[in-house]
Amino acid sequence: MSDPRDTICSLCRLAYANNWMPGTGGGIGICDGHTAYISPSGIEKELTTKDQIVAYDMNNDTYECGGGGLRPSACTPLFLELFRRQDMDIGCVIHTHSLNAVLCSMMYDAEFSISNMEQIKALPSGEGRNLRNVETLRIPIIENAPEEQDLMPELKRIISEYPAACAVLVRRHGLFVWGATAKKAKIYVESIDYLMEAAVKMRGLAL
Ligand code: ZN
Repeated sequence: MSDPRDTICSLCRLAYANNWMPGTGGGIGICDGHTAYISPSGIEKELTTKDQIVAYDMNNDTYECGGGGLRPSACTPLFLELFRRQDMDIGCVIHTHSLNAVLCSMMYDAEFSISNMEQIKALPSGEGRNLRNVETLRIPIIENAPEEQDLMPELKRIISEYPAACAVLVRRHGLFVWGATAKKAKIYVESIDYLMEAAVKMRGLAL
């Protein structure tokens, strides 16, 4: 495994380039043993450097600030909850504020769903294989809250309802995506964002 801090920096640059994390919004976490590496709060993603990544000790619930005294992303309690789950194999979580995700959260009520799209094949079925292009991708939607940490009860509830999901939409806020590795999480977030952009454009074109 390459240094998780390098991986977070390259994912941050990718996210900025794709307009997934405008301003200082969104965040990325990678779990390596009992350490969670988390992008810093309040730093533009395209400018994030390796020394700014926060190392959070999950055994002791303590963390070393990133260079210059930076605190971890506001998403940290949610990332830790996902990393600590015994029933899921989660090594990386990516939280975006992508406009495609925000628009889809307004277009759909309880869940985003899409089928008959080739890119669906990049996403897991929850049964140890990927979805087929004729199957339906379902991503549940939870309501937004004043602070990121306040999303926790709804996040826990929706995961128990959708145990196969690799992502959750937060209404008018963004998207949380997870995978066993950073590579998988990156493929999932890229594919989901593509499918959400397609859904928004199909609606606009009345397809
Ligand atoms: Zn957010």
